[in-house]
Amino acid sequence: MLRLAIQSKGRLNEDCASLLREIGISVDDSKRKFISKSANFPLEVLYMRDDDIPQVVPTGTASLGIVGLNEVEEKGFDVTVEAKLGFGVCRISLAIPKTEQYDGPDYFNGKRIATSYPNILRKFLPGKGVKADIEVITGSVEIAPAAGIADAIFDIVSTGGSLVSNGLKEVEKVFFSEAVLISSGKLSDEDRESLDEILFRLDSVKVSRGQKYILMNLPEDVVDEAIRILPAMRSPTVMPLAAKGWCSMHSVVNADRLWEKIHQLKSIGAEGILVLSVDKIIP
Ligand code: ATP
Ligand code: MG
Repeated sequence: MLRLAIQSKGRLNEDCASLLREIGISVDDSKRKFISKSANFPLEVLYMRDDDIPQVVPTGTASLGIVGLNEVEEKGFDVTVEAKLGFGVCRISLAIPKTEQYDGPDYFNGKRIATSYPNILRKFLPGKGVKADIEVITGSVEIAPAAGIADAIFDIVSTGGSLVSNGLKEVEKVFFSEAVLISSGKLSDEDRESLDEILFRLDSVKVSRGQKYILMNLPEDVVDEAIRILPAMRSPTVMPLAAKGWCSMHSVVNADRLWEKIHQLKSIGAEGILVLSVDKIIP
């Protein structure tokens, strides 16, 4: 049976739990222990600190893990990235006090940089011809310059709000991360089959994310124009209405472009436009 390691609490926990729900794997985490077994899929969930996930997968304690790519890269264990999951998006950046002038990576020569990601930083600096002292600290890295522990930091940034509130500015974006599904790459045939099913379901979640189902009534003579506005997966569904000269057209549209499409459709005579959420799309 597959065993999936996820973060027990923290930023990735809630998104992992909703992703499992979205792909139809129910895990009872109300009386959550260290391990919970799914009621409807051959999978157990193991809850742990995110730092440990890249290690328990290659050692075989868990067959799969969901963790930030930043942790995978930092720990350097040999794992296979099976899927990118689109949440936990962040980057690891170099930041310096905002009053400092910055003219390029040379700035960091001879400086002390505080970080929880020394390995990623050690890979980056030599390529830029920089020799700096790396101070490894595990929490509250962003206060290191103000506390006099370091001149600069190398830390996770998502919105940048925490940098600003600590008087820092981001000067080099070094590593881009999101949550990923990892495996050891050495699964039994049975586990591989279950993983393939998970990957299939993840694909359908990814495809349906941000999509809306749209249906409307249209004068028949503008159908071709409406199809140009709304190209569907294969082609939109068009059905006759009881009222002569009218039809109903159904399609799927990306939520980002929804309002633009609605205005174009209204301008050619569409009426009674309905927009519905899409639960799953199986391409
Ligand atoms: P744990 O107690 O499990 O070790 P943690 O404190 O190390 O938790 P979190 O802060 O919960 O970790 O972050 C987990 C992951 O979420 C990070 O490794 C990163 O991949 C991702 N992440 C996304 N945005 C951010 C952000 N703004 N700050 C921190 N992590 C982020
Ligand atoms: Mg951690």
